[in-house]
Amino acid sequence: MPNATAIVVGGGVAGLVIARDLAAGGMSVTVLEASDHLGGKVARHRVAGVDLDAGAESFATRQGTVAALAAELGLEVVAPRACPAWLKPAEGEPLPLPATSLLGIPGDPIAPDVIAVIGLPAAERAHLDAALPIEVGSDERTLGGLVRARMGDAVLERLVAPIVTGIHSRHPDELELDVVAPGLRAALRREGSLAAAVRTLRAAAPAGSAVAGIRGGIYELVAALVADAERLGVVIRVNEPVSGVEAHAVLAGDSWLEADHVVLATPLDASGETTITLVTLVVDLPALDSAPRGTGLLVAAGAEGVSAKALTHSTAKWAWLASAVPAHRQVIRLSYATTPPDARATAVSDAEALLGVTLPEVLGFDVVGWPAVPPKASAPAGVTVIGESVSGTGLAAVISGARKEAERLLGGVAS
Ligand SMILES: Cc1cc2nc3c(=O)[nH]c(=O)nc-3n(C[C@H](O)[C@H](O)[C@H](O)COP(=O)(O)OP(=O)(O)OC[C@H]3O[C@@H](n4cnc5c(N)ncnc54)[C@H](O)[C@@H]3O)c2cc1C
Repeated sequence: MPNATAIVVGGGVAGLVIARDLAAGGMSVTVLEASDHLGGKVARHRVAGVDLDAGAESFATRQGTVAALAAELGLEVVAPRACPAWLKPAEGEPLPLPATSLLGIPGDPIAPDVIAVIGLPAAERAHLDAALPIEVGSDERTLGGLVRARMGDAVLERLVAPIVTGIHSRHPDELELDVVAPGLRAALRREGSLAAAVRTLRAAAPAGSAVAGIRGGIYELVAALVADAERLGVVIRVNEPVSGVEAHAVLAGDSWLEADHVVLATPLDASGETTITLVTLVVDLPALDSAPRGTGLLVAAGAEGVSAKALTHSTAKWAWLASAVPAHRQVIRLSYATTPPDARATAVSDAEALLGVTLPEVLGFDVVGWPAVPPKASAPAGVTVIGESVSGTGLAAVISGARKEAERLLGGVAS
C-alpha cells in the first residue's frame, strides 16, 4: 500500500515540526511555504558580521517541549545569564523586577522590590488580596481581570502589563487566564489568595530559568529541522503561496494539489501588517560588560522619554554570543510597537536612557518588522490546523501543538 500523503501549508516552526514528525511516522510529506525562506518568525540576520536571531531568541522551558526537540536534533540548550530583568517604570529610573513573581504578579506585594516599583499605597492595596474572599476575581475570564480584582490597577498596569505584553504582544485584559497562566486559578482557589497562589506555583516550578536558548541562536532549530525533515524525505517548496484549502486538497498557484491529509500551519487570511519592530544596535562599550541592567529591560506604558517597549542586552543574556564577538562588543535589541520614524537615532537615544550610558559609534544596525499574532485560522472540516493562531504565541506552545496533531494523524493512520 502506498504511504499516506500530507501537505503542510506554512514552513514556520509549527509546519516544519509536524512535517518532520509525519515523515518519521511513514507519511510522504510536502511543505508549501509562501516566502522565499523557512522558519517564519524564527529568522536570522547578519549585523556587524554576526549572525543573530531576527525574531524569537529564546523559548519557555515549561514542560521541556522545546528542549526535547532540540535534543532529538542534536542542538545544545543554553541557559541565559542568571540575573533579574529590569523594568523602566512610567516615572523614574529603571529598577530590577521583583524577585518572587509570576508574569509580574508579586508573591509578596509589600516586599521592598515591589514597593520600589509601584509605591507604598499601591502595594498596600495589593496586599488586601490576602484578606479578600476567595470568590473575588476567581471567575474572571482574563488575566487582567483577575489581577485587577485581587491586587488593583497599579500591579496590573505597572508590573504585569509590561511583562505580559512583552511576551504575548497583548494587554493582560485581552488574554484568557487559563491559557496564559495555566493552574493559577486553581491555585488561587486552593491557597486563598493570589499572592499565595504565585508563591506555590513558583515553588513548584523546576529549578532554573523560565526561558532558555540554543547555542548559536534559536535559528539553529530551523536549520536542523529543515535538514532532518529533508533527510526523512519531506519535500519543501518555497515561494509557494497557498490560497485555498479543502480537507484533501490545497490551491497553490492555479493547481489543486491532493493529499490524504492537509495541515494548515498558518492562517491564510493574516493581515501581514507590522506590529512589532525590532531594532538591533552593535557597539563596542566596556561599560556594558558588567550587564548594568541585567539581561535587559521591560518598559512600562507611558514611560517618560522612551518609546521602546523592551530592550534585550543580548551579549549579556547569552554567553555563547558574548564569546562569538570581539571583547567589549555589545549587541542590543530594542522592540517597538510601530517603526520609529528615525529608527537609528531613536534606538540610540532609548538604549542610552535605559542602560544609563552614552553609546559610542554604532558599528551595526538593522530594523526588522514583524506582523501581529494572527487571528485564529479558520479551515474547512477535515483540515488540521496548527501554529500560533491556535496554540498561542511562543515556541513551546506551537511545537507542543504541532507534535500532538502529528501523533493524532499518525494514530489515525495506524488504526
Ligand atoms: C519579534 C518576535 C519575537 C519573538 N520572540 C519569541 C521568543 O523569544 N520566544 C518564543 O517562544 N516565541 C517568540 N516569538 C513567538 C514565536 O516566534 C512564534 O509564536 C512562532 O515562531 C510561530 O510559529 P508558527 O510556525 O506558528 O508561525 P510562523 O512563524 O508565523 O510561520 C508561518 C509560516 O507560514 C507562511 N505562510 C503564511 N501564509 C502562507 C500561505 N498562504 N501559504 C504558504 N505559507 C504561508 C509564512 O511565510 C511563515 O513562514 C516571537 C515572535 C516575534 C514576532
